[in-house]
Amino acid sequence: MDFDDTPAEAAFRAEARAWIQANAPHHLKPQLEAAGYGQSPLQHGDVLAESKAWQKKKQAGGWACLHWPKEYGGRGASPIERVIWQQEEGVYGKLAGMFIIGQGMIAPTLIAFAAEPHRRRYLPPLASGEEVWCQLFSEPAAGSDLAGLRTRAERVGDEWVVNGQKIWTSGAHYSDYGMILARTDPGVPKHDGLTMFFFDMKSPGVEVRPIKQANGRSDFNEVFFTDLRIPDHQRLGAVGQGWKVSLTTLMNERLSIGAGIATGFPEMLAFCREFDAGDGPVIDDPAVRSKLAQWAVRASGLKYTAWRSISALSRGQIPGPENSIGKLVAAQMLAEIAATALDLQGAAGVLSEADQATAAGRFQAMLLRSPATRIEGGTDEILRNIIAERVLGLPADMRADRGMPFNKVPTRAA
Ligand SMILES: Cc1cc2nc3c(=O)[nH]c(=O)nc-3n(C[C@H](O)[C@H](O)[C@H](O)COP(=O)(O)OP(=O)(O)OC[C@H]3O[C@@H](n4cnc5c(N)ncnc54)[C@H](O)[C@@H]3O)c2cc1C
Repeated sequence: MDFDDTPAEAAFRAEARAWIQANAPHHLKPQLEAAGYGQSPLQHGDVLAESKAWQKKKQAGGWACLHWPKEYGGRGASPIERVIWQQEEGVYGKLAGMFIIGQGMIAPTLIAFAAEPHRRRYLPPLASGEEVWCQLFSEPAAGSDLAGLRTRAERVGDEWVVNGQKIWTSGAHYSDYGMILARTDPGVPKHDGLTMFFFDMKSPGVEVRPIKQANGRSDFNEVFFTDLRIPDHQRLGAVGQGWKVSLTTLMNERLSIGAGIATGFPEMLAFCREFDAGDGPVIDDPAVRSKLAQWAVRASGLKYTAWRSISALSRGQIPGPENSIGKLVAAQMLAEIAATALDLQGAAGVLSEADQATAAGRFQAMLLRSPATRIEGGTDEILRNIIAERVLGLPADMRADRGMPFNKVPTRAA
């Protein structure tokens, strides 16, 4: 593992730092610094407008989507330069949340599978934040078992007619375009009958219904399709090859989520130093110190695991399954830390408004967001399966429907 920048990396870092110093929206910095995990990056003002403005400025300066080819709006930078940029962008990176799915997961899929005229039309406005994209994969009965999805796309002339329902679609309510995985042939095994498309979210036949979450926010949606018509030229990959196309998206999803995951530990350490439950700072309590010590060890392990990925990138290699380990451990820490902080706050722990609650409601927001972190981009159990099979080499999960035509898979007890 190498912690030091090479001379070229150090020069790149200095250039990035100088540009950020000259161009970042410094007036937003106090709000961005105050925003905790699960809270909106801006308590005041229009997050969508501010995020788009910063993204547009970055793209104009040559600092958006650094690793994409230049002709599609990127910089042609190396993966390690992208990591350096993220380190230097710091809190301003919180304004990139709404672009992660489009830029981090859908763009690599478009680069790999879209026709060249489509790449030139759709990638530059995705890089500049002028057009936002969402990913329509999950359905009420298909999440971890994504290949079991039931939304149908049937060919009629040069178009596909789509009917069905998606759920948990992040950002569908402000997205301009969507990428959808649909079943085009129910008569073959489930992985073989899928096809990927993209479409305009404002098309007739698309209905977006926001889901209200436990934390009061509506970050994701149900999306219903009634005779949505998608031209065949908006198909990504061959008919029946949608599973292969989706693997590009899912691999990039794990990399995007695993790379930036929070643990809550720095916030908890600061809180325990400051918070007085009536008998001095809670950090003086041996039971609290014992928990902090355990979290410190895990946070340190995660930091060096992340550095292993960064070192691999620096050497031009692709990181291994350590991103699965990172998300699994960090998401559990978030939940434990938030619950412990609320216990320490006692009755005041039930207050959640930022201006009333202890620590500005930071741990309440963390507690309510942490279950989602344990689900998105692969649940804890799915990540354990990945680690068991791909890291430890244990036998694979039983798959009872393997090789069976999808329309012959039993759906209920007889
Ligand atoms: C914040 C957030 C944002 C999301 N954004 C999007 C989005 O933009 N687009 C999109 O398409 N989807 C999105 N999702 C959906 C997400 O991909 C799914 O929730 C996830 O894949 C799990 O699927 P599920 O909810 O159907 O749960 P299920 O797959 O039904 O799982 C239920 C339980 O069974 C367990 N389980 C399932 N299979 C196995 C197995 N083989 N072995 C052991 N245990 C198993 C799971 O771990 C879980 O505990 C989002 C989810 C969240 C939380």
